[in-house]
Amino acid sequence: MSSAIDVRGLHKSYGDKVVLGGIDLNVAEGTIFSLLGPNGAGKTTAVQILSTLIAADAGEIRVAGHDLHQDPEAVRAAIGVTGQFSAVDGLLTGRENLIMMADLHHLGRREARRRADDLLKQFDLVEAGQKLAMTYSGGMKRRIDLAMTLVGNPRIIFLDEPTTGLDPRSRHNMWQLIRQLVTDGGVTVFLTTQYLEEADQLADRIAVLDHGRLVAEGTAEELKRLVPGGHIRLRFTSPDEFALAGQVLPTAVPNNESLVLQVPNDGSVHSLRALLARIDDASLEVDELTVHTPDLDDVFFAVTGQPTAHQEVITK
Ligand code: ADP
Repeated sequence: MSSAIDVRGLHKSYGDKVVLGGIDLNVAEGTIFSLLGPNGAGKTTAVQILSTLIAADAGEIRVAGHDLHQDPEAVRAAIGVTGQFSAVDGLLTGRENLIMMADLHHLGRREARRRADDLLKQFDLVEAGQKLAMTYSGGMKRRIDLAMTLVGNPRIIFLDEPTTGLDPRSRHNMWQLIRQLVTDGGVTVFLTTQYLEEADQLADRIAVLDHGRLVAEGTAEELKRLVPGGHIRLRFTSPDEFALAGQVLPTAVPNNESLVLQVPNDGSVHSLRALLARIDDASLEVDELTVHTPDLDDVFFAVTGQPTAHQEVITK
């Protein structure tokens, strides 16, 4: 399979702050690649460099087969970019925004209208297309923004945190649209996200970026294999029960504040049954039991030693 994006030794600093400290990446054509990392990791900087908006300090970069340094025009012609902040003009209707974009691509009047109407259909914005974009919800703005990116038929699309700030339903809609771009249109998607679930849902390959360095790379499955097995969480209301349970289950990791015991367990029916039997034998009053199989949050924690934004919210 040929590469849509190939990066060797990408470096970028602002003053003495190293934002990208020597990154290698390879994205196969027709796949979804996710650069995953917390705020400030360097994701937007990477997208800005790969999409020719800013220059790298060093590195060999090929995008759509073209050398980024020598032939930025050819790269620009092959790509589309959707940033975190919408390029949509609120004082135009959705349809007018698309037609304006088509004009920028010199599509010609009739073709511009046809393309705008096709995209409005594809993005479920036919009705909304007649309304001013400033009246759109967050999800609609993201959709029209993505539609605008597609006007020029890019082969490679950069999506910088495409669902940050969206409600769960709009996020799922967006995921569906992104998947369709790849399955129906055969485009390559380079996506940045802070959401492990998003990378897990969409990406063929994931690279984890932390402080400007790639700390892990692979498929979601490969990354999940980096983490030791899952666990069972047992929550208690009584401190006495909690203390007793700690003696009965010596491998458990206690959290004395929340009265939670984390028991290593692979989540199989067999091992779960064995655990419940020990709880019963000791007549322990467990308030709540949850099974936790390893997910990308655990991967992130394993490779960076930090919880994700997502986990911080959950544990608050
Ligand atoms: P992310 O997209 O992962 O949140 P960014 O690429 O936006 O991360 O930023 C990475 C780091 O680079 C941050 O610490 C940010 O403050 C710094 N940075 C980004 N752009 C500039 C700039 N123009 N000047 C100075 N520092 C910058």
